[in-house]
Amino acid sequence: MPSFRAPRGTRDLLPEVSSSLNRLEGIARSLAGRYGYREMEIPMFEQTAVFERGIGEVTDVVEKELFRLAPRTEEAEAWALRPEATAGIVRAFVQHGMQTWPQPVRLTVLGPMFRYDRPQAGRYRQFWQWDAEAIGDPGPAVDAEMVEMGYRFYVEAGVSDVQVLLNSIGDGACRPAYLERLTAYFLSHEAGLPELERRRLEMNPLRLLDSKDPAMTALVTTAPRIGDCLCEGCAGHFAAVRAHLDAIGVPYRVEPALVRGLDYYTRTAFEYYRRGAEGQQQALGGGGRYDGLVELLGGRPMPGIGFALGLDRVLLALDETGATAEGVAPPPLAVVVGADPADTVTRLRVASLLRAEGLSVRAELAQRKLGRQLETASRDHAHFAVIIGDELNEGHVQLKDLEAGTQRLVPLAELARELARAAKSHHHG
Ligand code: AMP
Repeated sequence: MPSFRAPRGTRDLLPEVSSSLNRLEGIARSLAGRYGYREMEIPMFEQTAVFERGIGEVTDVVEKELFRLAPRTEEAEAWALRPEATAGIVRAFVQHGMQTWPQPVRLTVLGPMFRYDRPQAGRYRQFWQWDAEAIGDPGPAVDAEMVEMGYRFYVEAGVSDVQVLLNSIGDGACRPAYLERLTAYFLSHEAGLPELERRRLEMNPLRLLDSKDPAMTALVTTAPRIGDCLCEGCAGHFAAVRAHLDAIGVPYRVEPALVRGLDYYTRTAFEYYRRGAEGQQQALGGGGRYDGLVELLGGRPMPGIGFALGLDRVLLALDETGATAEGVAPPPLAVVVGADPADTVTRLRVASLLRAEGLSVRAELAQRKLGRQLETASRDHAHFAVIIGDELNEGHVQLKDLEAGTQRLVPLAELARELARAAKSHHHG
């Protein structure tokens, strides 16, 4: 016998967890609406080059974790599953000429992302993100608004004690000088660098700062800080972001070691953690400004900022703190049962008629005695049983109120209206 399992790093979301995820997506949609973000969909896969350019070739996500799709021989372009949404959204922004829309364009995407990561707690190969992007506004106010929207998501989801870590990583004016200092620093410690990091040093020294290699921790702690090298423009921008956050009461901590190791990420960078759970693998979400990205993906230069919040990590956090008790299936308003066990056609027909009126109804399709059928209705905590018997010849059914224990004859033509009225007064449905 074969024994099949979900692929390593993926998991089935059984109804209870799926409903918790839906709840989070509902909160995200509601927030997006309140902040003026419009939901869109992008493909689950893109040309690999979109990610190579849009995320960076010298990143873990692209170097090691990209789910590349095996090309069919006749197909010229290489594809990969999306590891995040920003690159795809910006690709769509350029493709559809959204530069001509009123700016900034506020967009949001909810859905699964894929990374060929080494699976472990809180790290999956398929995981869910809420992504939001505001393209066309250089900030600083929109930066603070973005940080606040993410923070509010955790508050509304019920994750307690979330911390915002904040930094500025400079721009094209001040970063080159910083990178020189950083490179010189790491070169002076070259003997202590793991092989991969040594190679990265030539391509992109910033990447070393958010290395996941434990051997790097001590070196990174004493490395020069971008915050000490910001140009006037970036320092002013950063101060203004903080002033806006202070004014709207979002708590944050400036974290000088926080970087996004990509050339076209600029200025504001932020991450969300639970206090006391600030390890590399424990970020609840993160984001930042990417004033170079639109141009990199073929558009005209245009500033942008966005975040990606990991919904799986929120579910884990809620589990740990025991904050979820959602996910119990709502009972049907009524169960359709019948005196003739074999007559599933009529039971299905009556249920179908009621569902067409928008009611939540289950038909008992097992061919067992009426008494047993009624037991399943009670087990489901249905409010009513619709009992089909000989009265149907005169166009009537018995409507049994399982909670009150009463029963009366109702014309089939009025059944939906009767049940709808009861549903309203009992908040069923
Ligand atoms: P990143 O783009 O790497 O900053 O990811 C943004 C957020 O997505 C992280 O803060 C995590 O919450 C979540 N995330 C990233 N990778 C994974 C993964 N492999 N499994 C689960 N969640 C992830």
